[in-house]
Amino acid sequence: MTTKEEMPEIPVVCTACETRTQVSFDDVEAAVKRHNDTLHDGESVAQVDPDVLDALTDQLGREMGLFDNDPNT
Ligand SMILES: [Zn+2]
Repeated sequence: MTTKEEMPEIPVVCTACETRTQVSFDDVEAAVKRHNDTLHDGESVAQVDPDVLDALTDQLGREMGLFDNDPNT
């Protein structure tokens, strides 16, 4: 029996470094920030793979729709 939620790994791409790194969903924001802070003076060079982000936002949006059911917004 497991209650652990499956957290997908998110690909972070950096065009400047030509790297593609799999980061756990939990850590992805921090990882992107850390990479950009460390290697690019805080510029937003590295980012979550746009294709994946798109799909993920779509998926999360639908999941959150279950909880965010306010008809006034
Ligand atoms: Zn980089």
